[in-house]
Amino acid sequence: MGEYLNAIQRVFQLQKQHLHIVKQTSAAERIEKLQKLRALILKETPAIVEALQADFGKPAFEAVTTEVMSVINEIDLFVENLNKWMEPVEVPSRNRGATAKIISEPKGQCLIFSAWNFPFMLLFNPLIPAIGAGNVCILKPSEMAPATSKISVKIVNELFDESEVAIFEGGVEVANALLDLPFNHILFTGSTQVGKVVMQAAAKHLASVTLELGGKCPVIIDEQVDLEKIVPRIAFGKYANSGQICLAPDHIYIKENKREEFIRYVEDYIQRSYFENGILNQVDVAKIVNERNINRLKELLDDAVMRGANVRCGGIVDGRTFYPTVLTDVPLEAKIMQEEIFGPIMPVLTYTDLNEVIKQINSRPKPLALYIFSDNSKVVDTVLSTTTSGGATVNDVMRHISEPNLPFGGVNESGIGRYTGIFGFKEFSHERGVLYQASAGTNQLEEFARAPYKGKLDILMQRIK
Ligand code: NAD
Repeated sequence: MGEYLNAIQRVFQLQKQHLHIVKQTSAAERIEKLQKLRALILKETPAIVEALQADFGKPAFEAVTTEVMSVINEIDLFVENLNKWMEPVEVPSRNRGATAKIISEPKGQCLIFSAWNFPFMLLFNPLIPAIGAGNVCILKPSEMAPATSKISVKIVNELFDESEVAIFEGGVEVANALLDLPFNHILFTGSTQVGKVVMQAAAKHLASVTLELGGKCPVIIDEQVDLEKIVPRIAFGKYANSGQICLAPDHIYIKENKREEFIRYVEDYIQRSYFENGILNQVDVAKIVNERNINRLKELLDDAVMRGANVRCGGIVDGRTFYPTVLTDVPLEAKIMQEEIFGPIMPVLTYTDLNEVIKQINSRPKPLALYIFSDNSKVVDTVLSTTTSGGATVNDVMRHISEPNLPFGGVNESGIGRYTGIFGFKEFSHERGVLYQASAGTNQLEEFARAPYKGKLDILMQRIK
């Protein structure tokens, strides 16, 4: 540990000295770095996929689409737009003869923590805006995905000098050693509980934070929608990565008279997607990341069943494989309705009055996302205007994250700040307001504002009228 501490402190000081060079790099120089990163990621894609499979059996297809391609797309967005985003923005000035500009400058020394569920994407996607905005940066991958952590180290060390971008592997001790340092900005992805620890540490140095946290993302289904069309969207969101997605639909609200039809379509989806001749196709089902989380999910399931819930599908645990599961009749007091599920269990709740659903959602911490399925714009508007969440998708789940022109992030308990695209560039930039005044000549107003004030107050009061 002592060795780690020394290395962390040495690199932090090195980056501090080097910051002024990185800060002054042009858009072209930053784009070149991002393009090199892009090329190396593509070269290492087979190793990245292998690492994600070793860590928790992430299906290769999901590894490429949700981890590698997501980073590549974000790089492409920056390459296309960085010149424009870095341009100072001139705004109208109230000072006669002066010019007012907003200049984006880097926040400075940044720290990025990744969670384990998308351990590659959640480490590199925030690095893109950090580089784009001209910062120096230290990365801390998740120790719960050790193989992905290793390949991330290889990529970072091959491409960057440690005075610019450095990476430190490790768990809580390393995280705490990093959090002791006076970074200018910290981007943390992880649990709400640890997010609070990060924010407390940041407060010691008044560092700004981006906290990308979790929550219980509800789904509301209006009576009229075509269940055959919408169920695959919801079930995909619930069971991809075995439910280990911060944006995954957590639980479902549906009208009582539609519940059985909904469940039939979910069962049908699970069979078509994950079973062959009645046997679970293990290759397409991500493993639960570790024993602790398997036990946590088992406990949530057992507690719900003990309180009267019915297992309508799945409920089977085989090593670190948790079968896609559907629950009905889940009481609100059950633990599964109190914490983020973060696994392939879908509680299906019924409602008669939409206001009751809204009340329930508003009684819980603000979720990272909310999903409403309805063709009735009044219902959609009512739900959106009476609730809040980090983001929302109407008639689908999770899709708002794929929109480069929408900010992605949580609100209060589900997070603070946002990133992706220009929102990431802004998050890692300090918008410095600069007024350019002509150096020569004074105008009458300037003279008027200065002492002596004798006789001026009366004139001023008359003008204020
Ligand atoms: P976590 O909070 O356990 O860990 C995240 C990071 O914090 C890791 O790098 C870990 O080493 C570090 N850490 C853990 N304990 C710490 C401590 N006591 N002090 C300092 N650092 C500590 O989260 P996780 O289990 O890796 O991720 C799951 C959570 O992340 C879920 O709640 C999920 O919803 C959330 N998440 C959010 C997003 C988002 O974009 N909003 C994305 C993915 C995951």
